Amino acid sequence: MPTGRCHCGAIRYTVEGEPVYSGLCHCIDCRRHAGAPMVGWTAYPAAALKVLQGRPKVYFSSEHGRRHFCPDCGTVLFYFNDAALPALADIQTATLDDPGLVAPQMQVQTAEQIDWMKDAHNLPAFERYPPRG
Ligand SMILES: [Zn+2]
Ligand SMILES: [Zn+2]
Repeated sequence: MPTGRCHCGAIRYTVEGEPVYSGLCHCIDCRRHAGAPMVGWTAYPAAALKVLQGRPKVYFSSEHGRRHFCPDCGTVLFYFNDAALPALADIQTATLDDPGLVAPQMQVQTAEQIDWMKDAHNLPAFERYPPRG
């Protein structure tokens, strides 16, 4: 059964069953709230999510969007939207203890993506940092 937590560990959760989908979101709301160029989300039926420890703070990021984050360390954990995603809990994929369990199947909201993200996979890659010249 997948488990996950925020960075500081104050909030821990578990989810049962199979994800409904997993994607990488490029929308401006996710980007701004996470402070990251894109955000991985995995949706499960809302009833499958159980918070085992701690209490997330809820931020109303849009009319129907609710972003749940740790008030101690700031990690965004969950997203709920009764209008767009009824009965689903979107879990920020990278908060899973093993995010490798759920590979994203798609990128969404690319209409809002940062232009240079289109070529991010072509950037030079280093296992750590590049050697200093
Ligand atoms: Zn925390
Ligand atoms: Zn988004």
